[in-house]
Amino acid sequence: MATDGSWRNWSGEQRCTPVRTVRARSTADVRDAVLVAAADGLPVRAVGSGHSFTSIALTDGVQIDISAMDRVLAADVESGLVRVQAGISISRLSDVLAALGLGMENLGDIDVQTVAGAIATGTHGTGARLANISSQVRAIELVTGTGDVVELTAEGDPDGLRAARVSLGALGVVTAVTLQCVPAYVMRGVDTTERLDDVLATLDERNADHRHFELYAFPYAARALTRTNDVVDEPASPPSRLQTALRQGLLETGALGAISELGRRVPPAIPRLNRSLVRMAGTSVRTDRSDRIFASPRHVKFVEMEYAYPRDAAEPALREILATIERRRLAINFPIEMRFVAGDDALLSPAYRRDTAYLAVHVYRDMPWDPYFRAVEEIANGYGGRPHWGKRHFQSAETLAGRYPEWERFREVRARFDPDGRFVNGYTDRVLGPVQTAPVAA
Ligand SMILES: Cc1cc2nc3c(=O)[nH]c(=O)nc-3n(C[C@H](O)[C@H](O)[C@H](O)COP(=O)(O)OP(=O)(O)OC[C@H]3O[C@@H](n4cnc5c(N)ncnc54)[C@H](O)[C@@H]3O)c2cc1C
Repeated sequence: MATDGSWRNWSGEQRCTPVRTVRARSTADVRDAVLVAAADGLPVRAVGSGHSFTSIALTDGVQIDISAMDRVLAADVESGLVRVQAGISISRLSDVLAALGLGMENLGDIDVQTVAGAIATGTHGTGARLANISSQVRAIELVTGTGDVVELTAEGDPDGLRAARVSLGALGVVTAVTLQCVPAYVMRGVDTTERLDDVLATLDERNADHRHFELYAFPYAARALTRTNDVVDEPASPPSRLQTALRQGLLETGALGAISELGRRVPPAIPRLNRSLVRMAGTSVRTDRSDRIFASPRHVKFVEMEYAYPRDAAEPALREILATIERRRLAINFPIEMRFVAGDDALLSPAYRRDTAYLAVHVYRDMPWDPYFRAVEEIANGYGGRPHWGKRHFQSAETLAGRYPEWERFREVRARFDPDGRFVNGYTDRVLGPVQTAPVAA
């Protein structure tokens, strides 16, 4: 939040100036904020840590910031059930869980999101047998558009919970979440470079043999980066500060930033730069606490689009994207990231009842992304792709409804929890359409 009251997301491209921002400390604060907004006739959006690339979190009404709601409310180490305030960040959650001897089954590649923000967009990691983070949610406390506080569980309100797990912030403000955690574990993460053709020919084996596998394919390069993480029965051996600084200095910030900047200034050099970057990457092996293997800091700014494809489309879709870039000589100096996620049953999960391959495309900041992302979206459309709700796309309710078998059920739940359309913004208008309350009988 800037001193003039404006707000911007991590990439700096999405901005808004809310009428007011309420920093809630409790469920009662959230309830009051919703009721006062309703009395003032203002829309409301909860905001997490602003790590969505879409306009999903924007509002010109009341912004509710629950980042101060960051406590663990209850933890049962035996069952692994942990109740948290929904504004807790994944990094803080990971520290608290580690102290309890617990961990999350899977995470994405950063840990700065809030739990509520991460689940709202279907945030995921990689692991063909593991579903997204929202699939670990067992209960949600929600403040609805009428200011009611409801507890959603699979037993009490199965549709409500399946809608609220991936809600796009459109059902209300999530104030507490019960998560299914697992016993703490240590992982070995191996990053290396391999021939892209060899990797694509062995995707099934890699997914069968490893808990987490992902691929970074660089346009114009025959070699790709792979990341393979597995659980090991060994103590964590965290890297020294120097090792961390060198690793982050090389790929995650320093060299990546410098090479990306060079590519922005001299686009014809990009094919050579991409090949050099893969060559510089080499091999690294780390053994550490699971959350530290999953996540790393991101300082180089970019814009991203990510689509959930049917699992079998992973290879052909990636090849189509690479061929499009190379045929059109697009100046793309970031890799295409391929990850694998098991299907789940949240009504608007991009992996809804479908084992999924995610393909993410990135463009370095201040470089043109529109033509590239439109071309990739056309490819995704051909495979029935579903967009990540927090990453750039051009879809609308009309183009999306047919891709979600339980779309209407989500709309029913939305009308039940937000009958007056309190939690709308431009993004929900575009991708969900207006709230549809049941027609009044004549
Ligand atoms: C560098 C980077 C790396 C990323 N890596 C991954 C990755 O590995 N995997 C992946 O899937 N995604 C990834 N993302 C995307 C990111 O995980 C999602 O966009 C996520 O939703 C961001 O969480 P946030 O806390 O920043 O929420 P925000 O972006 O602030 O908000 C997202 C949505 O959540 C809603 N929301 C927030 N709090 C609440 C609440 N209390 N109640 C109801 N609704 C709420 C907001 O209204 C909004 O609709 C990445 C993004 C960046 C910038």
